[in-house]
Amino acid sequence: MTANVRKPPYEAGAIEPERQAAWVERGDFDAPTPPPDGERGVYVKSSSPFTSGNLHMGHVRDYTIGDAYARFQRARGRDVLMGFGFDAFGLPAELAAIERQIPAAEWVEQCGERMLVQMKRLGYSFDYDRVFYSSDEGQYRWSQWLFLVLYDMGLIYLDDATVDWCDTCQTTLATIQVEEGGTCWRCHNEVRLIRRPTWFLKITPYLEENDANMALLEQQPWDEMALATQRYILGRADGVEIDLEGPDGVLTAFTPHADAAGLASFVLLSPRHPDVEAWVAGEVREELEQLRSGGWEREARDAKAVPVVDTGRSIPGPDGTELPVLVSPLVDARFGPTAALGIPAVDEADADIAARFPARIDVDGPKSADIERFSAHQPVGEVAGARETKRYRANDFSISRQRSWGTPIPIVHCPDCGPVPVPEADLPVVLPRDLVATGEGNPLAERPDFVDVDCPKCGTAAKRETDTLDCHFDALFLWVPATVPPEDRATQMFTHPESRRWLPAERQVAGGDSGGFVFDQRVVTKALRDHGEMAYMTDGEPFEGVLFHEMVIADGRKMSKHLGNVVDPDALVDEFGADTVRVAVLWAAGPAKTLNWSDAAVRFGNKFLRSFWTYAHDRFVELEGAKHDPAKAAETEPQREKLRGWCENGLARVAEDTADLQMHKSIRNLTRLFERIQQFEKQLKKRGQLDKADAEALVVAILLLAQALQPFAPHAAEGILINSGRFTSDDLPGSWPDASAIPVAVDDDAMAGAAS
Ligand SMILES: [Zn+2]
Ligand SMILES: [Zn+2]
Repeated sequence: MTANVRKPPYEAGAIEPERQAAWVERGDFDAPTPPPDGERGVYVKSSSPFTSGNLHMGHVRDYTIGDAYARFQRARGRDVLMGFGFDAFGLPAELAAIERQIPAAEWVEQCGERMLVQMKRLGYSFDYDRVFYSSDEGQYRWSQWLFLVLYDMGLIYLDDATVDWCDTCQTTLATIQVEEGGTCWRCHNEVRLIRRPTWFLKITPYLEENDANMALLEQQPWDEMALATQRYILGRADGVEIDLEGPDGVLTAFTPHADAAGLASFVLLSPRHPDVEAWVAGEVREELEQLRSGGWEREARDAKAVPVVDTGRSIPGPDGTELPVLVSPLVDARFGPTAALGIPAVDEADADIAARFPARIDVDGPKSADIERFSAHQPVGEVAGARETKRYRANDFSISRQRSWGTPIPIVHCPDCGPVPVPEADLPVVLPRDLVATGEGNPLAERPDFVDVDCPKCGTAAKRETDTLDCHFDALFLWVPATVPPEDRATQMFTHPESRRWLPAERQVAGGDSGGFVFDQRVVTKALRDHGEMAYMTDGEPFEGVLFHEMVIADGRKMSKHLGNVVDPDALVDEFGADTVRVAVLWAAGPAKTLNWSDAAVRFGNKFLRSFWTYAHDRFVELEGAKHDPAKAAETEPQREKLRGWCENGLARVAEDTADLQMHKSIRNLTRLFERIQQFEKQLKKRGQLDKADAEALVVAILLLAQALQPFAPHAAEGILINSGRFTSDDLPGSWPDASAIPVAVDDDAMAGAAS
């Protein structure tokens, strides 16, 4: 048996590629494709990165958490799909391609390939056959399909929006392309704001349901950070609304201060309020237009600085006092496109607005006596007829950009019919793969082979829409493709029977800044439920559980090339191996905490793996030479009993922490169990050589620990199991360890047999 015990040192660089090759050969991570009526499987949806060309430590954190969970669930005997795809369209890739003067498609492919190599090297158990790029024709065809469905449902509409425009470059600019001081990133000339038609996604019909479902999500494995982002984006404000009788009809005004509504001294209207036009005339109209095109989104939301337009008109308040009517986007930022009562007596932001219009808003006037009584807790502020209600801050958002690296919008502009949707049979509207953007003009508009087309309705010569979809739109369904076998995606992206086995996803793991994506993905799921394709998700929730993690920083600061504090995962893997990096990134901080990267984490991870590796190997050798004495072995039975108890307890804790994705605790409990195992050995060795029964119990404990280590440091864990001589590469224990495997009572015959 001694021959079976290998004696290699811990060399991650040799062990890891060997294990990875074995996984590929066995197809360990291929999503199982059983019949669609089977038990629901575990779908782990990790972040979909931009194709930047390099994984950063934030990705490593994300994927290591998700991978440990996926591997753990496989060990629990469940079917697991760890899906992955690139969010490949968008500005970062387009800018990188402009810089290199190559087609963005080429750049994205290079970057994606490089990142996949990095991911495989880190041992992530994605089903790599299911990897997709949002910029692939077969993929964005479905973005276009989704656009048509939502358009048909009335959830997509065309409206004017304010965008930055450079006269020199003849192009619209994204916010990050406008330098501080309002100049163009490319030519450094001044940028101005223009109004242009833009496509919007209407999410308001689903806000109430997203809100109501919060109670459901709180009962599911959504962590606090994930829940908090959903509440924040929704921006629910509870309060009352009051109908004010104006000259042109009723104006319904909202306030979150139900007990102080009667103390209102002005009304603030959103520039997007449906009745706002009725309130502005003459010069004020121009002012409003200026405000609308004035890029207030770029300005501080602070009530002291936010633009406000005085309509010059008033409306009678609940007690007959005239309330001046002002218009400001401050309302949108707080309660959405509504009308709000301004109550300086109780509301700080309202007090700031009032202070800016002393001639119009009389805070110390007729209301002052009431305000005094209110301050003395007398119920003077409530208004008869006020209805309890709520408002949401979340609102429709623009989904189109004048960029060339994005999904072409399936719309044709016909001089006779107006905007006409491209028929589904004509999808995809193909983006020219050889398009090289320069940063100047609109590259798509300059391609007659793309632009010139006959109207699908009347056949007249027409023009294609040359705006593309913002990548946020493609991301609305980035959680779907991995659930569909690649060969079926062309026909069944949203209707494949296998998706039902994986959706809703058991876990989404993503960075803390992904709240907006998740919110809109929840909205679109509800739309597709109502449209029929996803009717099986009755509550319209695509994620059963969500874990958001904080980012990884270094030296207390965000990593940046400029600061020279970027930690490169590749360099770490080169030096210490993937397992060390994985253990380090999990151990260093719980997901809810920012991970301040330090060498201490890799030193810890490497030391733990190295010492466990060596310790295990030495015990395997020791067992070979151990002798059995039945009398002595009977004496140490209580110790073996204790060891089994420690293992039982330790493994249960690791399982619990891992199921909760609190892997920093899992690692801590694994290292503690390792200490206990060593303690068992030390205590017995005080009495001399280990009896074979104890040596065997010790080895079994080590193997259980190695099995439990598999989700976190899979290469080293499997290496240890193989080194024991009890397993081969083809025959590794695939299940979560069970402490009852530790032999307590001694079978003397077996011991004697084994010794011979
Ligand atoms: Zn310019
Ligand atoms: Zn037409």
